[in-house]
Amino acid sequence: MTEGALVLFSGGQDSTTCLAWALERFGTVETIGFAYGQRHHIEMTCRETVLASLARDFPRWRDGLAEDHVVAIDALGALSRTSLTQDMAFAMEKDGLPNTFVPGRNLIFLAFAAALAYRRNLKHIVTGVCETDYSGYPDCRDDTIKAMQVALNLGMERRFVLHTPLMWINKAETWRMARRLGGEPLIRIVREETHSCYLGDHTTRHDWGYGCGTCPACDLRAAGWRGFVAS
Ligand code: ZN
Repeated sequence: MTEGALVLFSGGQDSTTCLAWALERFGTVETIGFAYGQRHHIEMTCRETVLASLARDFPRWRDGLAEDHVVAIDALGALSRTSLTQDMAFAMEKDGLPNTFVPGRNLIFLAFAAALAYRRNLKHIVTGVCETDYSGYPDCRDDTIKAMQVALNLGMERRFVLHTPLMWINKAETWRMARRLGGEPLIRIVREETHSCYLGDHTTRHDWGYGCGTCPACDLRAAGWRGFVAS
């Protein structure tokens, strides 16, 4: 296996920061994104914009930025009834999880990513999951990821290393990490070109970027930005 990396890249703030983190560390960085019947295709558009901007604005990362892979997992959207994939309003469920939770989504993403990393001969898999601001999604927990690393290595007879650079930091610290990695040019890309909003609003502009400003993802992003600029 090479010391190359595969980054789970959705076009959002977290995975864009993780991509920059990986580009600073690994000689070759490939990206994978999933089309699983999201209601909003804006994420997929943002991916391409962000990739193009990183290559344009960061000559030191340009050579390392390798293939981008988009994998269609329509079955995930068909299996789950959530407000991310169907025309439902956002709500909290009785179990305390928001109804944006797609059961097992990160486990499924990691299994697909590892299958691709196996074929591409890449050792490192990077994901932006985070236990600090994780909205209660159990598949974002550190123990879940560690268990998944063991399962993938046993199941594929490889030595993958799963990296979670954001696991123990909050959204304000994620902005700070972006500034450390790429200064103001990276902050500009994250702010202007990434997408977090659950409603797919990429036209309403706030100081923290685009979004509806009221959904849980926008709330989190706005609070993180306020913490960042106040620091
Ligand atoms: Zn929103």
